[in-house]
Amino acid sequence: MTRLGVLGWPVAHSRSPAMHNAALAALGLHDWRYQLLPVPPPLFAQTTRALGACGFHGANVTIPHKRQALALATGASRAAREIGAANTLTFADDGAIEAENTDAPGLLAALADVLDTPTGLSALVLGAGGSARAAAWALREAGAEVSVWNRTGERAQTLARELGVRAAGAPHTADVLVNCTPVGLSARPHVERSASDREALNQLGLTFDHVGEYSYVVDLAYSAVPTQLLAAARAHGARTVDGLAVLVAQGALSLERWTGLEAPLAVMRAAARDAGAG
Ligand code: NDP
Repeated sequence: MTRLGVLGWPVAHSRSPAMHNAALAALGLHDWRYQLLPVPPPLFAQTTRALGACGFHGANVTIPHKRQALALATGASRAAREIGAANTLTFADDGAIEAENTDAPGLLAALADVLDTPTGLSALVLGAGGSARAAAWALREAGAEVSVWNRTGERAQTLARELGVRAAGAPHTADVLVNCTPVGLSARPHVERSASDREALNQLGLTFDHVGEYSYVVDLAYSAVPTQLLAAARAHGARTVDGLAVLVAQGALSLERWTGLEAPLAVMRAAARDAGAG
């Protein structure tokens, strides 16, 4: 049995096991399994270092471990090092742990569904956490003019300084808008929204009219119904990418790294979508 998994705390909500196990089955890898690995922060390093000897070939890493994952790895890609976080670990037989960040290329791959290239375009990233770092780095690498806005301005300034992008004092007009905050996550059917549509947009420093100033809108938050941001963007006729598309894209890149096989994107997309339908 070859094992894969997702390290997080909490991680019970993750759609990655459903998405990856469907992909492994479609690829005929019947002796591979992908499982949840709920590990609290104080146990992260010792647990992760032991995974290779326990039959694990790889693991995804999610909140709150992405920075620690990079720190404990014995080798890391340029993307992981410059972003300062890893979401994909690969365990070698000799105990080596290789860190990669597929959040960055995953965002670009998902964006490619609606936009040929962000080269030469302006992009505004909302948020200054781990996923904002990956988004800002990816868009900068792709040749976009990147600004970052965050409700806590100092964090945006630190990110901007470290990644060579601009910190914005307020959200401004751009070609591409990427939401890298959890705002909008509560927009699910059967669950009362925690904030009205207007309040959700206001938390992002936006109004409904403002949203009309962006041609391409990506929302990393994923839910069964469009987030308030994506609903507003579509109402204005913008091209949109939802968080599920980004989840599938980064997961596909991790899977290809571990298996050396082309990821079955349609299978992964359907499994990820169905996993949230309950
Ligand atoms: P972090 O906790 O590292 O960062 C969260 C960011 O969101 C911070 O900048 C924080 O601002 C901001 N924020 C939090 N709450 C609010 C709010 N109410 N109003 C305005 N800003 C807020 O999280 P991540 O970067 O790891 O993840 C962010 C989101 O992206 C999550 O929803 C996560 O699920 C999603 N995600 C989706 C992925 C996908 O594949 N679709 C991949 C990775 C993440 P402050 O600094 O002021 O606290």
